[in-house]
Amino acid sequence: MIKRSLKQIAEMITVRNDFKSVEDVMINGVTIDSRKIEPGNLFVPLRGEHVDGHDYVEESIRKGAAAALWQKDVPNPPLHLPILIVDDCLKALQELARQYRKELPVKVVGITGSNGKTTTKDITAGLLSLQYKVQKTEGNFNNHIGLPLTVLGLEEDTEIAVLEMGMSGRGEIEFLTKLACPDVVIITNIGESHLLDLGSRESIAEAKLEILQGLKEDGLAILHGDEPLLMERIQMFKGKIQLKTFGRSESNDLYPTQITQLENGNSFTINATDTVFQLPILGTHNILNALAAMLAARYFSISFEKMNEGFRSMKLTNMRMELVEGSQGEKIINDAYNASPTSMMAAIELVANLHGYTKKILVLGDMLELGPEEEEYHHQIGLRLDRDKIDLLFTYGNLGKHIANGAKSVLGKQRIFAFTDKEALIKELKQHITPSTLILVKASRGMKLEEVVKGLQK
Ligand code: ATP
Ligand code: MG
Repeated sequence: MIKRSLKQIAEMITVRNDFKSVEDVMINGVTIDSRKIEPGNLFVPLRGEHVDGHDYVEESIRKGAAAALWQKDVPNPPLHLPILIVDDCLKALQELARQYRKELPVKVVGITGSNGKTTTKDITAGLLSLQYKVQKTEGNFNNHIGLPLTVLGLEEDTEIAVLEMGMSGRGEIEFLTKLACPDVVIITNIGESHLLDLGSRESIAEAKLEILQGLKEDGLAILHGDEPLLMERIQMFKGKIQLKTFGRSESNDLYPTQITQLENGNSFTINATDTVFQLPILGTHNILNALAAMLAARYFSISFEKMNEGFRSMKLTNMRMELVEGSQGEKIINDAYNASPTSMMAAIELVANLHGYTKKILVLGDMLELGPEEEEYHHQIGLRLDRDKIDLLFTYGNLGKHIANGAKSVLGKQRIFAFTDKEALIKELKQHITPSTLILVKASRGMKLEEVVKGLQK
């Protein structure tokens, strides 16, 4: 993490007060959460909807913070404490990260896309750490606050940083990529998330492609080559960057040649080597995430054989396609972390194709933030179910009902249960479970469907 004197910090950002008496104070890391202060930290008070970090400046210093920032329009700065007054605390945090990144020799991999960012980040970091000192975005810290904090947490001897870049509108990825200056960028795919804010898949593609604006000259762009919206638009960057593509089709630089779905993951081969890879992550869409990560690992000269070792010891961030057991011995795929039509279909397809279960049940909740067409997106999911591969459908929520409606003509009414009450859903669901049942639980984060998983485990 960043270790600098206040004097050095003031060379990186504009400071408005006289801090000469404390200029030799050393800071050791940056935090915005007074509850997580470590001795020596610089506390950056941000203004949230409900709390103002400035109320916690005194407390943070009492708890061991070496210094704090203070925004100039907030009255009564505690001038007896080691504070640096700045125009805007959030901007100062971002600027500090931008300057720190410039000083570091670290190589950066930046990852964006509609689905699979966190998974691809975890796999990429896993592969690179076979040979390098790697740090990555913790959890989902991928926005205009999380990314600067991640950068400020980088150690000076870290060789590669793998950073997730999220967005909800235009210009956000541009901001993040210009701050992080990546050597390699990955766009996992273009889906439908954030349609609400952006309006069309075309403009989502353009928003994701903003990541190229911070890519170093002659850096590597790794793109999902089966996505025409990306491939058309990348033409204008030709000659200025290196390009590698991954995907299912043979026109890509890297594609799978054979896939076997296993209960605890996938086994697959690729066009570039004879190695048979074992990826302990469920869902064939995760093979695509792995291919993207493998292209990044190749760029850093990691061999395919070595990558296979890396896959075996992979640990992913929680609640992404987690396979757990319920109280009646059934298997539950907990994918309650988030959902969009693309990821919903990917997960359903996974369940449909897994062998060894006598009954397969879907528990699907609302997919949020899809814009005016939201009901139609839900309806389509129902329509696309395979009646021979899915036995029962449970839906939760008001949008979930539209999945149920769409499924009526496919599954028939008797195989569909629509709920808006979780307890009632769990109660009914439990009646249908056998030890050889497989259940998929999936919805947007806000629906808290992990409570259903917990209910089944009781
Ligand atoms: P967020 O925007 O919340 O940060 P993310 O892009 O980081 O999401 P992950 O957390 O890796 O994505 O995965 C989220 C969901 O997307 C998972 O539930 C998974 O089922 C699905 N998913 C992951 N990768 C893909 C992919 N390549 N194609 C389609 N769906 C995917
Ligand atoms: Mg994420």
